Amino acid sequence: MSWDRGVVIKNETELALMREAGRLNALALATVRELIRPGISTAELDAAAENVIRKNGGIPIFKGYPGAYPYPATLTISLNEELVHGIPSKRKLREGDIVSIDCGTLLDGFVGDSAFTTGVGKISEEAARLLEVTEQALYIGIEKMRKGNRTGDVSSAIQIFVESQGMFVTREYTGHGVGRNMHEGPQVPNYGTPGRGLELRPGVTIALEPMVLIGTSLTSVKPDQWTVVSADGSLTAHFEHTVAVTEGDPMILTLP
Ligand code: MG
Ligand code: MG
Repeated sequence: MSWDRGVVIKNETELALMREAGRLNALALATVRELIRPGISTAELDAAAENVIRKNGGIPIFKGYPGAYPYPATLTISLNEELVHGIPSKRKLREGDIVSIDCGTLLDGFVGDSAFTTGVGKISEEAARLLEVTEQALYIGIEKMRKGNRTGDVSSAIQIFVESQGMFVTREYTGHGVGRNMHEGPQVPNYGTPGRGLELRPGVTIALEPMVLIGTSLTSVKPDQWTVVSADGSLTAHFEHTVAVTEGDPMILTLP
């Protein structure tokens, strides 16, 4: 799927369908969140999410996503220095890990895309602060998703906040328009220039997803050709919601 696919404005009916896709996606993520504990494998978490999605008539949209080889799972599960796109496996969660879970659900023709990062048992103060900063960056970005603003206003608000906290945003992976396809236009990086980019208008739907690193902004890809890690091995976090621009306040489509 192309990343420069055109921007598609959604009408009220389409937004209502996206809300339902987002709700099911949130249900899958909530189910996984409940299961997170030391000793559970990432494949077990993946199976639980797939079960919830299929039982409710949805399709896990990440599965088969084109890359070096088709993505093999429902979730991406990324631990510690893994930023995004970690592949579920027999690997077990351990006390003190931070785990990022990203999920995409197709329901009645529309996609919901959302992610969160959380701690496994007790985590370090540094890790806890990283999670707070990344989640806060998401909500700071969402607040800018208003009619008349531009995507650069959203991107720069995220960047300025994260960097003010002494942390870094990735330059290589971005938020994106979402709708009938998981990736539509526009791209919404986590850095940018105020006043630049696409002007936001009601019906624009964007998966906003700050990806934050403690050490540097640089990443590399592991030999599995999917898992993205911080280049310096430092901790990373990722939060995401699918959000619609409206005549009034931004509307989060991926809430329970
Ligand atoms: Mg996602
Ligand atoms: Mg996304």
